[in-house]
Amino acid sequence: MFAEVALSISTFQSFTYKIPNNFYHIAKIGCRVKVPLGNRIIYGVITSINDGSSYKGDIKSISEILDDTPILNESIWKLIQWISYYYVTPIGKVFNAVLPINISKNYSPRLDWYAKHIQVNDKVLIEKLKKSAPAQFNVYSVIKNLSPEPTKVAFLKSVCSNPLSICRLLEGKELIELFKKEKDILPDNLSFHPIKKKIDFNEYQNNVINAINNSLNINRFNSHLLHGVTGSGKTEIFIEIIKTVIKKNKTAILLLPEISLTPQISGRFKSVFPGGVVLWHSQLTKAQRNLAWNKIYKGDYNIVIGARSAVFTPLKNIGLIIIDEEHDPSYRQEDPSPRYHARDVAIMRAKLENANIVLSSATPSLESYYNSQNSKYKYLILPKRFGDASYPKVQIVDLLEENQESGKISTVISGLLLNKIEKRLKIGEQILLVQNRRGYSTSVRCLDCSEIIMCFSCKSPLTYHINDNRFKCHTCAYIISNRYDYCNSCMSTNLIYTGTGTQRVENILKQTFPNASIARVDHDTVKKGSSMVDLLQSFSNNKIDILIGTQMIAKGLDFPNVTLVGIINADLGLHIPDFRSSERIFQLIYQAAGRSGRGDKKGEVIIQTYDANNPVIQAASKLDLSKFYKIILNDRSGLKYPPYSWIAKIEFIGPNSKALFLFSTKVKNNLFNHYKGLEILGPATCFKEKINNNFRFQIILKSIKKHDSNGEMLHSFINDNFIQNKNNYAGSNKIRIHIDPLSMI
Ligand code: ADP
Ligand code: ZN
Ligand code: ZN
Repeated sequence: MFAEVALSISTFQSFTYKIPNNFYHIAKIGCRVKVPLGNRIIYGVITSINDGSSYKGDIKSISEILDDTPILNESIWKLIQWISYYYVTPIGKVFNAVLPINISKNYSPRLDWYAKHIQVNDKVLIEKLKKSAPAQFNVYSVIKNLSPEPTKVAFLKSVCSNPLSICRLLEGKELIELFKKEKDILPDNLSFHPIKKKIDFNEYQNNVINAINNSLNINRFNSHLLHGVTGSGKTEIFIEIIKTVIKKNKTAILLLPEISLTPQISGRFKSVFPGGVVLWHSQLTKAQRNLAWNKIYKGDYNIVIGARSAVFTPLKNIGLIIIDEEHDPSYRQEDPSPRYHARDVAIMRAKLENANIVLSSATPSLESYYNSQNSKYKYLILPKRFGDASYPKVQIVDLLEENQESGKISTVISGLLLNKIEKRLKIGEQILLVQNRRGYSTSVRCLDCSEIIMCFSCKSPLTYHINDNRFKCHTCAYIISNRYDYCNSCMSTNLIYTGTGTQRVENILKQTFPNASIARVDHDTVKKGSSMVDLLQSFSNNKIDILIGTQMIAKGLDFPNVTLVGIINADLGLHIPDFRSSERIFQLIYQAAGRSGRGDKKGEVIIQTYDANNPVIQAASKLDLSKFYKIILNDRSGLKYPPYSWIAKIEFIGPNSKALFLFSTKVKNNLFNHYKGLEILGPATCFKEKINNNFRFQIILKSIKKHDSNGEMLHSFINDNFIQNKNNYAGSNKIRIHIDPLSMI
C-alpha cells in the first residue's frame, strides 16, 4: 500500500511513500505523518491511499503516524483543499495553519496535587505533631486554615522544601486527603464582568432577529449582511440568534477582528452562556491552545469566540458563523502562507457545513456591500441607534487655519479640541482620542541636509519612542538601542522630531491636564491581553478620563459615558497609493465617531485635518455612508477595481534590485494563455520598496468580472503560469502570490 503525502514545504507536488505493514490499519486520509525527505524527517499529511504507485524511483516508507484516527472531519478536509486551490498554497502549508503541528489529540492536561483538610478531634495527635514534627505541623496548619478550600501542594513550598512528601505523611495519619486535579489553564482573564441589563428588542432589531431565525430553521447555507449603524445593538442580536442555534443543539463561531474587542464581548457572552464559551486567540500559550482545541474537539463548548484562526477550530455541527466588523483588514493573514481572508474562508466553511453566516458591520466592506446589493447576501439593516441614543455631532477642524492663527508650525491638538476636552473633564464625562500611529515622533529629519533617519534594512523612516528613548522601525521591528543625536549623512546635531504618534499626544495631554487620569492603548502598551483588559476595565469603571489609542480603540467598544471623540489626524494614510485607502479612512473615522454618545448623553466628535475639503473626510464627517459608497463604487467601476474585478498580486522579492527587476520583467514577458478581460500591470516597484534588506516589485493581474464572473479564468491563468510552469523560479528571488490582496503597496 502507498500513501500520497503533502508536505509542509513550498511545493505543490505530493510525494509517494510506502505504508509499512504495522501502519496498515491506522493510515487514513487526513492523518498526520512523519516521513523522510532527503536526509531530513518532516511532517506531512496523507492525501490519498493507493494499492500501487506509478513512481519508478526508490520509494521510502512512512516513519511515524501521529494521529490514530483522521483528526479532521470531511468538511474541514474539503475546506483545506479549497484554501489550497483558491489561495494557491501547497496543501501541507494549509494543513499546518488549520491544525498546527503542536496540537495533539493525545494531549492530556497537566495534573496538580491538592490537599484537603479532614476534620478530626484527636487533639493529642496534633499536639504531638507540634512537638515532634514541626514541619508536618506547619503544613497541616496552613491546609487547615485554608479549609474548606483545598490547598495546592506546590503552594506549600513557601512553608517547606518537600511539601508532597510531608503531605503524604499527613495523609498516612488521616489528617488530610490528597488528590490530583486538572491544571486550570484556561483562565478567564480576558473577559469583563458584564453589567446585567434587561434586553427589550425594538422593531428594527426584531425584524433582523426574525429574518435570521427563519433562515436558521432551514438547515441550509445562507448568507446575510447585517448592516447596523454603530450602537444599534448588533452584539445583542448576536446573543439572541446564538440562543436559537444552541436550542437546536448546534454550535456557533463568532469571529472578532481585534483582541481589544474580546473582553467586552466575551464578558457579555459568558454571562448569557455560562460554561459554553471558549476564547481562541493569539495570546494562548501552547498548552492552553492544546487544551482548548481538545475540549472543542470533544464538544465541551458550543460557542467559540476568537480571532481569524478560530475559523479553523474543530467545532462539530456548526449552525452559524458570525463575522463581527467584517470589513476589518485584520481578517486577512499575510504571513506565513496561506495568505487567506478569514471572512471568505468562513463563508466557504459555512457552505460546507450547511450553516448560516452573518457578516456584520456599521461600515461594510465595499465587496460585501456590493454583494448584498446584488442579492448574493441577504441585506439586513439597523438604521438607528438603540434607545434614545442619537448620532453624535461632528465638527471638522482645519489644521492649516489653526496653524495660521496660532503661528505654530504644526498643531497637534487644536484649541477647539482642548476646550472641549476641558469641558468634558469638568462634568466627569470620558474622552477617546484616536491617533493611528504609535511612538512619539514618526519621522526625524536633519535641518541642515534634510535627510530623514531611516532604517538600515528598509526604506522607511524610523519612529522615535520617547518612553524608552529609542528609534524603532515599524516595518521590520528593528530597534536602535541608543538614541542618536546626530544625522547619519552630515553629522549635524540639528535634528527635528516631526510627525505625531500616540506618545506625543499622551505627553501633551499630561502636561495640559495634570489632574486628569490619562491612559494609552497601542501595541506598545498592551503586549499582553490581560493588560488590555485591565485598562479597558478601568476605563469602563470611570477610573480613566482620557483614553488615547490607535485604531485598536476606534471600533466596537461600548462605553456609554464617552461623549467626546477626537481624531487627531484624519489624513493619515489618505495619500497611500492604494485604491482602498479612502474606504479605510472613511471606515476609521466613522467607526471612531461611533464610540461617542452611545448612552443617554449626547456625544460629539472632532475631526482634525489638513485637507478639510477632501470628499472622504467630508463624507465621513456627515456620517453619510450610502452617499460615500455610491461615489466609491462608481469610481471602482470606472477603474475596474474590486468588486468589479478579481485581483491577484504577484510579489517579487530579492536582495538585488536590478536583478529582481530583470527577473520580474522576464516573468511578465513569459506569461501565456492571456484571455479577454485580463489586464496585467507592472512590474513596478512596490510602495514599500525595500523591507528587511529585500527589494520588492509587483505585477498586478486584474480579471474583469464581466468576462470572468467567478474568478475561474484568473485561477487557471495563475495555475498555468506559476504552478505548472516551473521555468519561473530563479536564484535567490522569490515569488509570492496574493489572491484578493487587501493591500496594494
Ligand atoms: P453595536 O454592536 O451595534 O455597536 P451594541 O450591541 O453594543 O451595538 O448596543 C449598543 C448599546 O445598546 C449596548 O450597551 C447594548 O447593551 C444596548 N442595547 C442594544 N439593544 C438593546 C436592547 N434591545 N435592550 C437593551 N439594551 C440594548
Ligand atoms: Zn544632515
Ligand atoms: Zn526596518
